[in-house]
Amino acid sequence: MTDTDSTVTDPASLNNLSDAPLRDLPADKPPEGHMPSTLLRMLNNAGARAVLNAPPVDLGIAEHLPYPFLALVGQHEMRIALLLAAINPAVGGVLLIGPRGTGKTTAVRSLSVLLPDIEVSLCEEGCLPADFERDGAAGVCAECAAKIARGEPISKWAQVNLIELPLNARLEDVVGGINERIAVQQNKVRIERGILARADQNLLYVDEVNLLEDTIVDAILDAAAAGSYTVRRGPVAGTYRSRFVLIGSMNPEEGSLRPQLMDRFGLRVVVRGLMDRTERKEIYQRSRAHRLNPRGFIRQWGAATLDAREEIGAARELLKEVTVSDAAMELGLDLVRELDIDSHRAEYTMFEAARAYTAADGRDVVQVSDIRAVASMALRQRRSQFMVDFADHQQQEDNAIRERIDALLKVNAS
Ligand SMILES: [Zn+2]
Repeated sequence: MTDTDSTVTDPASLNNLSDAPLRDLPADKPPEGHMPSTLLRMLNNAGARAVLNAPPVDLGIAEHLPYPFLALVGQHEMRIALLLAAINPAVGGVLLIGPRGTGKTTAVRSLSVLLPDIEVSLCEEGCLPADFERDGAAGVCAECAAKIARGEPISKWAQVNLIELPLNARLEDVVGGINERIAVQQNKVRIERGILARADQNLLYVDEVNLLEDTIVDAILDAAAAGSYTVRRGPVAGTYRSRFVLIGSMNPEEGSLRPQLMDRFGLRVVVRGLMDRTERKEIYQRSRAHRLNPRGFIRQWGAATLDAREEIGAARELLKEVTVSDAAMELGLDLVRELDIDSHRAEYTMFEAARAYTAADGRDVVQVSDIRAVASMALRQRRSQFMVDFADHQQQEDNAIRERIDALLKVNAS
């Protein structure tokens, strides 16, 4: 890990914005009694502020140059949840719940830079070399089969994209529909790939998911769960890959999400504004630095970002080997029973999140401490009584979950 702190210059010179040494900023607190993993340490230790001293250049392009993930302040749980979903898509996505202006969208937009490059098809049908290797020429379209015969590539490596679902998207935009231009011009009926197909291998962000029509949310969740989907329009049908990391966000003040839909998001994070003055000041200063000189700010975090990207790539590889120890399995199942949770997605998500967490820490066996680290994110708001008034009960519930774990650990230890 690169210690970007070595580039910190005298904080007192930061245009008098700061009257306290920034390096005293408290690190985020990991869950009690837990040893921080490599990724957690990275999130907590990353710090670079010299950019604040660089001459301000307002390029007006901050929007296109996402704020670095590692420069986010606080919101420990949100960042962990996003990383776990990025390492292990089987976690089933993340739902961020909280008011506007708490950094949800900034965090999601910053995530794609951290993900390893993906192999993308060069053709509209989405053919990949793996299809050819598996099924021969029948596995790809005629054009790609011809290309392969000529020894030309049918795919390239590209950076992961963040696909943001527009709020006014229609079902046809989302799943795809008949391409009317081709239908009229060439008298051919062809199905156009929808947003879900374009999101394959990428990140799909659905802001204000609670304001979308249920049919659309259903389609997204079905596609995310299955990893592919089929569109039928009369006699034509098309099947598309849709292996994306799904991230939804909602402001509960603007309406709720049906419990059935809520249940289908893997991890849930309640995002609140930070109450710590030092942290808020730091957020202001970093936002300002990013706005004034986005390229400089991003460069400042470049080394830490590269490190994290490598860690995530390694964690994804290691994930294949990660198994759940008997003790961790028993604890997880006991916990779900004690909390009276019906949905089987609860333990599935919890174990998959724990596997990702373990892989992020460079280990290959899930221990009880890994279950403890992810249990709240995986289990909260899966008990119906908490659906009603979750804001008030959130803290209570989190405490209850931790207490249960401690009690169970005591019982198991004695
Ligand atoms: Zn093709």
